[in-house]
Amino acid sequence: MSSETDFLLGVEGLTVSFDGFKAVDDLSFYLDRNEIRVIIGPNGAGKTTVLDLICGRTKATGGSIRFKGRELTRMKEHEIVRAGVGRKFQTPSIYEDLTVFENLEISFPRGRSVFGALAFRRDADVKDRVEQIARDIFLADRLNDLAEYLSHGQKQWLEIGMLLIQDPALMMLDEPVAGMSVSERKKTAELLHRVIQDRSVLVIEHDMDFVGDIAHKITVLHQGRVISEGSMAHVKADPKVVEVYLGH
Ligand code: ADP
Ligand code: MG
Repeated sequence: MSSETDFLLGVEGLTVSFDGFKAVDDLSFYLDRNEIRVIIGPNGAGKTTVLDLICGRTKATGGSIRFKGRELTRMKEHEIVRAGVGRKFQTPSIYEDLTVFENLEISFPRGRSVFGALAFRRDADVKDRVEQIARDIFLADRLNDLAEYLSHGQKQWLEIGMLLIQDPALMMLDEPVAGMSVSERKKTAELLHRVIQDRSVLVIEHDMDFVGDIAHKITVLHQGRVISEGSMAHVKADPKVVEVYLGH
């Protein structure tokens, strides 16, 4: 794998305490470009808090988060989004009363206002991009349907599409396959492999079949710390991981 000099995201000594309780405790890990990393760990391990810290929703007590050479701990949430970090929360937040096309269209990042022919050109670009994303998320034939008629799994894909259209260099997903059928999980894995040509993905997930399908590397969290990291085979055989999962 690559050295620490060309990582996309470098988390070092990251710590946050809530009234003295360290939810994330001296955490370090490096995410490569084009990597799919999965964070696993028991409930309360600090997984969601790590995503909250990276996207600037929660401020770190200590440590650093470097992304493309910039220090995210000093930036505001909207600046972090603009720098190229996209994040999907556990519950889908799509617009049920808009079509699939419209949901994707409104998520397209628009710059300052443009005029005349330029605006027309831009509309064509947006349409192309929406159609391309719709193919990636298996909704090409649902573009004109209201989002409320999609299945739960399709709604999750739509929300991933709403992130992808913003073209983030880092996409973070918190439990993306929760509530999905087995075939939807397989397709979600396929989707993620398809979109990492241009980006890295950081996923929190419990479903170990899905984790095995997507993860290049797994980071195991317990009590806010990394207790193991590596391939599925490596972490599965690690006595520290076995103890955490079977010890209580
Ligand atoms: P996970 O996603 O691994 O289940 P979380 O990151 O949600 O775990 O939570 C880790 C710990 O931090 C939990 O004990 C949780 O109660 C606590 N925690 C998370 N966010 C806050 C907060 N804003 N204020 C106080 N405690 C929090
Ligand atoms: Mg969580």
